[in-house]
Amino acid sequence: MIIKRSLKITVSQKINSQFKPKVGKDSPVRYLRGVGPAKEAVFNRNGVSTLKDLLYYFPFRYQDRRNFTKINQLKIGEFSIIKGRVIARNLHKIPYFVNKSKVKSIFGIILDDGSAKLECVWFNQAYLYDKIADKQELIVCGKLAQTKRGRQMVAPEYELAERSDLLNLGRIAGVYRLPAEFNQRFIRKLISEIIKLYCPQYPDPLPFHIRKQQNLPNIAKSFESIHLPASFEESDSARRRFIFEELFFSQIQVYLRKARQRSQRGVCLRLRQELLEELRRRLPFKLTLSQDKVLAQILKDLEKGFPMQRLLQGDVGCGKTVVVAFAIAVCLDSGFQTALMVPTEVLAYQHRETLSGLFKGLNFSGQNLRNSVRVMTSSLTRKEIKAIYEGLASGRIKVIIGTHSLIQEEVKFKNLGLAIIDEQHKFGVAQRALLPKKGLIPKPHCLVMSATPIPRSLALSLYGDLDLSIISELPKERKVPETIWVGEKKRRWVYEFLEKQLSQGRQAYVIYPLIEENQQDDIYSLESMYEIIVKRFKKYSVGIFHGQMPSSEKIRIVDSFRSGKIDILVSTTVVEVGVNIENASVMMVENPERFGLAQLHQLRGRIQRSIFQPHFILISKDNLSANSRRRLEIISKETDGFKIAEEDLILRGPGDFFGNLQHGLPQLKIADPLRDLEILSQARKIAYQVIKSDPHLDSLEHRPIKEEILAKK
Ligand code: ADP
Ligand code: MG
Repeated sequence: MIIKRSLKITVSQKINSQFKPKVGKDSPVRYLRGVGPAKEAVFNRNGVSTLKDLLYYFPFRYQDRRNFTKINQLKIGEFSIIKGRVIARNLHKIPYFVNKSKVKSIFGIILDDGSAKLECVWFNQAYLYDKIADKQELIVCGKLAQTKRGRQMVAPEYELAERSDLLNLGRIAGVYRLPAEFNQRFIRKLISEIIKLYCPQYPDPLPFHIRKQQNLPNIAKSFESIHLPASFEESDSARRRFIFEELFFSQIQVYLRKARQRSQRGVCLRLRQELLEELRRRLPFKLTLSQDKVLAQILKDLEKGFPMQRLLQGDVGCGKTVVVAFAIAVCLDSGFQTALMVPTEVLAYQHRETLSGLFKGLNFSGQNLRNSVRVMTSSLTRKEIKAIYEGLASGRIKVIIGTHSLIQEEVKFKNLGLAIIDEQHKFGVAQRALLPKKGLIPKPHCLVMSATPIPRSLALSLYGDLDLSIISELPKERKVPETIWVGEKKRRWVYEFLEKQLSQGRQAYVIYPLIEENQQDDIYSLESMYEIIVKRFKKYSVGIFHGQMPSSEKIRIVDSFRSGKIDILVSTTVVEVGVNIENASVMMVENPERFGLAQLHQLRGRIQRSIFQPHFILISKDNLSANSRRRLEIISKETDGFKIAEEDLILRGPGDFFGNLQHGLPQLKIADPLRDLEILSQARKIAYQVIKSDPHLDSLEHRPIKEEILAKK
């Protein structure tokens, strides 16, 4: 108690003494009257430490408390607001010996609003006698109750109507998300005080010309309107301003980072037309228009002197790998190394096959390519890994394809020219950032690939400084998969269907959901599924595949499936990512209700590579939740990854959907890039103009922006 007291004194001394510090937006909240160390601690715990933080602590909704109910219209049990004059009041103190209950005083008033009279009472708040005077006009808000003494409002919220600065009643009142220690009245009072005292001097981070062009109110007005709006139009326009402000500054940061990146020295690669033409000749197909367009964008980047930072997006099976193969070839041809990071070992070996096949016997400016495309995973022996480290450091290994093991400290390159991350949604942002190794000069080009389709403008804001390339079409000869969703009763029919497909020479996947890849129970149930399939399909060879197997075994099995030695692969979702086996055109999924939409779409992508008509068969439980049912309906009728992602978004809500994507990016407080797409594109456009015309924000008119950016650091 004593400590608290002395602190209080220091605080007030601080303000009152002649050494009074300048109070401004960055002053700590304890400079406010009514905020002592205890309250300050609560604020700090909730991320509020300065007056500015408090001003930016916006209400999450409003209560319209402007409409008064006439007393003769009041209904028992209903919340209402009344404005009337105090015509009588009485404070009744109850001596302890009379009444041993906790009630020590009762303060009562009679309000008259012309229609009728109403009694209001408060217990143990004797001080109200001094606050609420006779004949005063008063606003009260509460629930009408029928008590022994008649109709009353017990302990209503109240406010003096004569005050010009009504905070809680008789107006639109902001409602804040608050820690248990605080109540709405306290916060409203505090914020209204800051608004009165400091807002007039608050420097607007948005320059006047931008506000004018966007028709946004200035900052002082906006703070007032968002916390203490006179109308909903006012609070809306303030909200729009703050959303714009937040998105604008996030975009300014993006462009600044981009500019910084442009000023770095990158690897300048040489495009040799004969090589590119030779590669095209070698492909068994023609690139789609989309692939061509994206390839041109990437090749152009590789020639420039600064490092590429590009996101390559395209639905499952659109053919991202082949585009990347061109870039790798160019990098090799210029004498630089390439690193390709993938989420699974199987995918690593598959990419090696694709690349080795495509590059075989090619003349890469006279270099010997034998043994120079290698795979590194954590399941190699120590000795093998050491040999790879050496090969990378000496430059003998030209292309390294690997899992997470690639980002280990010990991996050193002689001259890394290109770093690629496949299926980037499977990696965290931090891991993604590690691959283009920090500190390498010149800095390698970086390409990340993703099959998670998200709208373009959103991608731009989420991935910020990455340029975006989208492959928007699938190769034409691709057949649209037929999706068949049945219940348990139809299992026999499904098996017959499968048998028919097998007899025509096709191969099939049987996918079994594992909640956790390393749970022994689940492996058992996978194994019993395998037994059932083996018994049912005696004529065919059946393989089993899951994440817990030793990796040599995994690779052997995928190879046997690829070469046709295995007809049916009973597997977990580890086949979900990237695996590409052309003759496998049937997939049967057990308990599909356990999978998310994106995962089902990825799974179906496995069989969509086939030149044969793909069949995707779902055998679900019979009693499904509404949400599961909806997911299966969507996957049954929709094949476009974009549309599926949109539906997914609706089903799951943006928070969940972006949870993973947004990880590691600055959190937005008031803006929601999905809802505020329109404002986002405005903010982005203007941020671009600003940085383009004034890259260092040196001009006078951009001074506020620069100050805000510096303050954020
Ligand atoms: P993803 O984009 O999902 O990584 P892949 O790169 O694995 O897809 O390509 C899927 C399959 O499509 C591969 O077998 C590939 O050879 C084939 N492919 C790629 N481009 C074309 C094309 N333009 N025409 C026909 N088939 C193609
Ligand atoms: Mg792929």
